[in-house]
Amino acid sequence: MSTQNELKDESRSQVVVVGGGIGGISAALMLGRAGIRVTVLESAPEFGEVGAGLQLAPNITRMLDEVGVLEQILPLSVVPNRLVFRNAKTGAELTHLDLADAKERYGGPYIVLHRSDLHHALVDAARALDTVTLLTNAGVERVEQDQDGASAITTDGRVFTGDLLVGADGLRSIVRGEIVTDETVPSGYVAYRGAVPLENTPAHLALDDVNVWFGPGLHLVQYPVRAGELYNQVAVFRSKEFLEGKEDWGTPEELDATYADMCEPVVEAIPALGRINRWPMSDREPIRTWTDRRITLLGDAAHAMLQYLAQGAGQSLLDGAALTTHLSAIDGEWTGDAIARALEAYEADRVEAAAATQTVGRMWGDIWHVEEGAPMLLRDHIFSSREVDDYSLVDWLYGPVVGESDRPPAPMPPAYADAGDPADAGSPVDADQAPA
Ligand SMILES: Cc1cc2nc3c(=O)[nH]c(=O)nc-3n(C[C@H](O)[C@H](O)[C@H](O)COP(=O)(O)OP(=O)(O)OC[C@H]3O[C@@H](n4cnc5c(N)ncnc54)[C@H](O)[C@@H]3O)c2cc1C
Repeated sequence: MSTQNELKDESRSQVVVVGGGIGGISAALMLGRAGIRVTVLESAPEFGEVGAGLQLAPNITRMLDEVGVLEQILPLSVVPNRLVFRNAKTGAELTHLDLADAKERYGGPYIVLHRSDLHHALVDAARALDTVTLLTNAGVERVEQDQDGASAITTDGRVFTGDLLVGADGLRSIVRGEIVTDETVPSGYVAYRGAVPLENTPAHLALDDVNVWFGPGLHLVQYPVRAGELYNQVAVFRSKEFLEGKEDWGTPEELDATYADMCEPVVEAIPALGRINRWPMSDREPIRTWTDRRITLLGDAAHAMLQYLAQGAGQSLLDGAALTTHLSAIDGEWTGDAIARALEAYEADRVEAAAATQTVGRMWGDIWHVEEGAPMLLRDHIFSSREVDDYSLVDWLYGPVVGESDRPPAPMPPAYADAGDPADAGSPVDADQAPA
């Protein structure tokens, strides 16, 4: 049997995927299952994920069910009863969304799970396929293409050529530089997150729910993962230190100070968060095309978004499914024209949907984080006036509702950036460098 770092097939792959995160690995799995030969190049020495949780909404689990991955991850997941929104300052419950009925309404469950559990399941399933080759210690330095194929050149000089190359290399993608010249957009918010054993968390937590507490310039999300063994928490706040232009911003001291005035359950939750790592939050402006001839993008490389709709990883899974559908439909030889048509169809399926999620995600964060006074009073009034069986805020995203063929439009159209000239393409500049 081949080991992880051996090429299973010496001939060139049809698809070279740069990046083995959730997006790259899931795409490889779906492509591989469709009989398409794929090589994944991952820069890290091991495939792995952050030790934190992930929410997957019905629009994602429906698709995971179709491609046979859902049954593998369901035993490791939790299906929460409710998504509960509370005011982090007063502790008042504002509204909730019934999640237990998600499967009935949208055809897929709302699940929460540990990132590593999902990633491991995907890696194991991909590794079992003869069509998929997974390589670690394969950091890609640059990519290039000609009329016969597209190649990734690693930092140690190896060249991997395929008919097509997919950049799934995340927020700071180097492949994206082939498509557009742009920068990451720092939000000035920072996240602290992690999953800890249940016994290390306060006793009064509502373990069957996803709990969201929002306060002025901050929020806290909590939910159980790994079939209820671990409790995941994410605290996100707007850093005053960032606004002051400090180089070292979003520090643990700032975390403690920011949450100190919140209600007791929120204050009690903060000490359980790890302090070693923190994640400065950035996204990208939506772009209209992810493709240049034989090179395309997927996941955060294509549409990095702020996490307020909990959709980034999920959208990358949808990308992989759409890419697989359209590449599988190529009848005959993978000529440049055939690939171009498949990628055009891939973009038609995915670009606008992902761009809307990026745009609405930013707005959703603005609503969560309003300041005290009139904005907070208004937000809380609107949230608490909502009927709990009113799904109009999420039908556009989680739909279509079972029995219907279409989803309503997103609450706002995608706010596309002007795409840069590919001729000027270069590595995007990291505008959000901060110690983490
Ligand atoms: C706080 C927080 C909470 C979130 N919560 C959710 C949630 O609940 N639900 C959800 O769906 N999404 C959520 N997201 C978003 C989600 O984490 C991302 O959208 C998702 O992980 C993106 O996956 P990806 O594979 O596209 O990119 P990444 O996970 O960034 O993977 C990219 C991979 O490429 C590799 N790589 C990078 N450069 C190179 C190179 N040059 N050569 C080779 N390999 C390279 C990296 O090592 C990495 O393994 C959240 C994000 C944050 C920050």
